[in-house]
Amino acid sequence: MLATDKTVRGNCPICGLSCQVVAHLRDGQPVKVKGAPNSPAPAMCARAASALEYHSHPERVNVPLKRVGARGVALATEEP
Ligand code: SF4
Repeated sequence: MLATDKTVRGNCPICGLSCQVVAHLRDGQPVKVKGAPNSPAPAMCARAASALEYHSHPERVNVPLKRVGARGVALATEEP
């Protein structure tokens, strides 16, 4: 049994089908996501099943970027 703090139900945001999912959280971070029971599509697709890998990937882009030359540079996210 997975020790989690909280379970929330929502919709997968990855594509336009917006399947219903259940996320298990520990310390506010998702540790497991699965298809919601009693939903039209209770099984998750391969793309959604790997979502936790890119959610916590160290190279994940978490801020808006602006292309400068060959690379993007982070933009300020707060108003001056
Ligand atoms: S579970 Fe798969 S098919 Fe459903 S919304 Fe997410 S990415 Fe799309």
